[in-house]
Amino acid sequence: MGDFLSMGLNPRVLRAVAAMGFEEPTPVQQQTIPRLLQGVDLVVQAQTGTGKTAAYGIPLAQRVKAGDPHVQALVLAPTRELTLQVAEQLAQLTQFLGVYVLPVYGGQSYDHQIRSLRRGVQIVVATPGRLLDLMDKRVLSLEQARFVVLDEADEMLDMGFQEDVERILSRTPQERQTSLFSATMPDPILRLATRYLSQPERIILSQPRALTVPTVSQSYFLMHLQFKVEALTRILDTRAPELALVFCATKRMVADLGRELQGRGYHAEALHGDMTQGQREAVMQATRAGQVEVLVATDVAARGLDIPEVSHVINFDIPQESDSYVHRIGRTARAGRAGEAITLVTPRELSLLRAIESALGTPIRHEPLPAVAELEERERQGMAAHLRQVLLEGQWADFRPLVEGLSEQHDPLDIAAAAVSLAYGPARLRPEIPQITPAEVAPTRATYAPRRRFGRGRRR
Ligand code: ADP
Ligand code: MG
Repeated sequence: MGDFLSMGLNPRVLRAVAAMGFEEPTPVQQQTIPRLLQGVDLVVQAQTGTGKTAAYGIPLAQRVKAGDPHVQALVLAPTRELTLQVAEQLAQLTQFLGVYVLPVYGGQSYDHQIRSLRRGVQIVVATPGRLLDLMDKRVLSLEQARFVVLDEADEMLDMGFQEDVERILSRTPQERQTSLFSATMPDPILRLATRYLSQPERIILSQPRALTVPTVSQSYFLMHLQFKVEALTRILDTRAPELALVFCATKRMVADLGRELQGRGYHAEALHGDMTQGQREAVMQATRAGQVEVLVATDVAARGLDIPEVSHVINFDIPQESDSYVHRIGRTARAGRAGEAITLVTPRELSLLRAIESALGTPIRHEPLPAVAELEERERQGMAAHLRQVLLEGQWADFRPLVEGLSEQHDPLDIAAAAVSLAYGPARLRPEIPQITPAEVAPTRATYAPRRRFGRGRRR
């Protein structure tokens, strides 16, 4: 508890921190908590999985007043899942304080949210859309919200949410304390953000050139577009992930790939914004319960999610920006575990991969695709292990007379092989995927003409 004790925290907050198993503050918590307690506006940039939630959550727990039934603190987050995850952690941090935390997100019944607000809620964690809804219905007021946090701030201030966030902030007190948290903070977003902050300080723990977590092994596979699904299944079969988080570019592709993988016998689920709230919650629950081996998602759906079991992040579609790559691979190797990040790249996307490498300052290793022979060998080993176990357990004695009868006409080895094929089905035929090496990919010349210079076009 060392450093937590020296922060001047309420004993009930300390008790909650201890109950959560936090022994000492993470670096981002060490730097952020004292400044937030002093009331400073902050822009905080730290790698995923470094404990940013508690970095703002502990000061909120310390500073909201349990006896005051008004909403005093607001945390905005981009997705429903993240809203729930943050609300849960804040509820734990405030568990001995008599402070109430309410998650507010679309798709949930208004009824519960309204009743809860009537009883008095000190901290609201919300997605912007539903929050505005409740404000417009006059069920929720932010006139007393002295603390505002934007979690995944760059996403919140990006085009999709910016207008909503502005409307929300305009209805909070001028003298509020505002803080922004994210792993990445592109300059244009930062410039925009400073309009909402007063004399902000910037705390940066993730240097732009050391953004990736060192325990993540990063590699990429090269193949033509039409072999991507086959390549993915080969990777899944050879890596045997505890939980793989697979990213696609669009909701539609997430849904399609999810179905495709289910059809091929994987415990796969999809997570994207067009699903109903009930569906999304069911998926998250199954995932946390260990029933899912592949979770296919969009960037937005997976932002900020803390699922410690993610052993592999697979970019089925290579992200268009290095920031997105960083966020994605930050979903694995959480809390010191090892993790693997794999990117599928088509020849024309190789330049995109190079751009990501140079933004990151680290090379991403090229690997040849697992060969069919390797997969078959793995499958055979799996069957052999299974058969050995059955032999040891000795539940087959009843079938011996049958085999004895057959052995009058057939070789016992043939009979055994036939039985194995009956048990496992015919050997699966796998298409060969043409291997491509990076050296073979011709450097592509820009196919577009350079932009015309200003003033050459005809004036209208
Ligand atoms: P981030 O928002 O930076 O991606 P989270 O806030 O989701 O990270 O935290 C990641 C994990 O680390 C969570 O499971 C959280 O409970 C855990 N954690 C946070 N702070 C500490 C701490 N001081 N000691 C141990 N574990 C912590
Ligand atoms: Mg977070």
